[in-house]
Amino acid sequence: MAKKHQTNQRRNTRRPNRKKTKKKQPPKPQGPVHFKEGMNVSELSQMMGIPISTIIKKLMTLGTMINQNQPLDKETVELIAMEYNIEVLEDTSQQEAIHFEELQTEEKEDDLEVRPPVVTIMGHVDHGKTTLLDTIRHARVTEGEAGGITQHIGAYRYMKDGQSITFIDTPGHAAFTEMRARGASITDIAILVVAADDGVMPQTREAIDHIKAADVPVIVAVNKMDMAGANPDKVKQELAEFNLIPEEWGGDTIFAELSALKNEGVENLLDMILLTAEVTEIKANPNREASGHVIEAELDKGRGPVATLLVQNGTLHLGDTIVIGDTYGRVRNMTDDFGKQVEHALPSMAVEIIGLSDVPAAGDPFKVFDEERTARQIAEKRAEETWKDEHGVAKSVSLDDMFAQIGENEKKQLNIIIKGDTQGSIEALKGALETIEVEGANITVIRASVGTITETDVTLANASGAYIIGFNVRPSAAVRDTARDKGVEIRLYSIIYKAIEDIEMAMEGMLDPEFEEVVTGQAEVRDTFKISKLGTIAGCYVTDGFIKRDATVRVLRDGVVVYEGDLASLKRFKDDVKEVRQGFECGIMIEKFNDIKEGDIIEASVMKEIER
Ligand code: GDP
Repeated sequence: MAKKHQTNQRRNTRRPNRKKTKKKQPPKPQGPVHFKEGMNVSELSQMMGIPISTIIKKLMTLGTMINQNQPLDKETVELIAMEYNIEVLEDTSQQEAIHFEELQTEEKEDDLEVRPPVVTIMGHVDHGKTTLLDTIRHARVTEGEAGGITQHIGAYRYMKDGQSITFIDTPGHAAFTEMRARGASITDIAILVVAADDGVMPQTREAIDHIKAADVPVIVAVNKMDMAGANPDKVKQELAEFNLIPEEWGGDTIFAELSALKNEGVENLLDMILLTAEVTEIKANPNREASGHVIEAELDKGRGPVATLLVQNGTLHLGDTIVIGDTYGRVRNMTDDFGKQVEHALPSMAVEIIGLSDVPAAGDPFKVFDEERTARQIAEKRAEETWKDEHGVAKSVSLDDMFAQIGENEKKQLNIIIKGDTQGSIEALKGALETIEVEGANITVIRASVGTITETDVTLANASGAYIIGFNVRPSAAVRDTARDKGVEIRLYSIIYKAIEDIEMAMEGMLDPEFEEVVTGQAEVRDTFKISKLGTIAGCYVTDGFIKRDATVRVLRDGVVVYEGDLASLKRFKDDVKEVRQGFECGIMIEKFNDIKEGDIIEASVMKEIER
């Protein structure tokens, strides 16, 4: 797109009569030329050591009329450079710049200064996350302006005695997970809220999985201590199973007992956060251009795109030129969490800004650039890459890729999520996997639980770069779709040693399955007919893909495999058929299996040779 634009510009500025330029002694050619998107004759002249007028003349002889400030495309630059025998190199600084979220900014220890911790509050629904956030918000000392109006901008600061903490103001781990899934880690410390009268619940467990996978320090807030049924010891016992053991029991997890509603013990929690921050040494370099992530963004009718940014490194200034995700702009106005206009935002500070050309997404990285032109080009490049990603082959972390990388770098960690039909099989698989020893790699099982593979598993896998092993369980078509979209690999097994063998082989870099089982479709059993001499016929409806007569089938009941075998017959009305596609009804009989029930799912698969 950029190219087309340039060509048009050039065409419009053709002028038939140019004034003759004065003759000058040509300076010695230099080289090589580092091609930069959008560079003009003037810049090229400096790089090549050839006067502007000479280049313009040369361009004229090549049939291009252009002035010194118009952008040149790469072809034109190459053409001119060739005339002077100068090499053209791609400017890599910009290529790197477009992936700025991956750039690990190397900072000198001396440049680093302590910054406030960024805290996310997680836990089961109704355990008091929102109440805790509200209580802290109201308890904060507002820099002299008592009762400053609190703006909701997605994050706020708690300040006391010159120390501050930034709280991400979106409770629940959805925000945390989504951010992580997008590669944005913004949390320094996680607070796990557990209601003392309720204990560990499903979302508590999920929050723990995420916190562990993200490897951030955690403080347990045992909330609702004012309730009659409060039993903090039970909470501690339950959490001990997850290796969150209080100091008084010889562990190293901080537990703070409190009542968010009555504002009791909250002060102590805040002190614990500050203490943890101090130990963890959270630092950034305030003296450089700002970078960080978007916490929230929306389109405001009056003000246009509005985004809340968390500055993670550097300092953001009013007027800065900024690239956010695929969009860019200039910071025209900046307000803090008190709704006060500010001119600078230091590391760990969240500010709401306006001045962007488009609405970015939560979790998008941002970075400040010196020039607006560079910012625009980088944003355009990023948009182009996003487009390619979305329309091209989905990027996926396959087991093979993962191990291909292992060879290149040092010790790699392979994260695995295990879902299985029984606690026994999961334990066995987990135990066996964790004993696999391959040099340069280790396996971490970040979740192992009974049940079918769900969207939440896929989200966790995506956020943690993990892959999922299903043992005697199958994901639904919807979950499989999500996994495919997100590029999460799911491997299904029904024999433990097969799973172990695969992983062992993969870890040794020789994963070589010649055949792969490919699921072709699913059918739902809507009715059953018992025929005395034959057995049970399942009246089915193909909900997904297709079912072939020679398929292997699995019978799933509530996501668990209850039988695995071959088809005995596949019929449409009275006729035997080779295949039945999605949206059609059919009659299915399974060899040596008559216990089929209404509501069962029949999953069909075929063996397919796969190319390596
Ligand atoms: P969230 O879903 O985790 O954000 O939970 P909320 O903050 O919305 O709290 C759920 C319910 O628990 C609300 O009715 C709160 O008033 C109540 N609650 C929260 N904290 C406490 C507490 O410390 N003590 C008591 N008694 N109730 C609380």
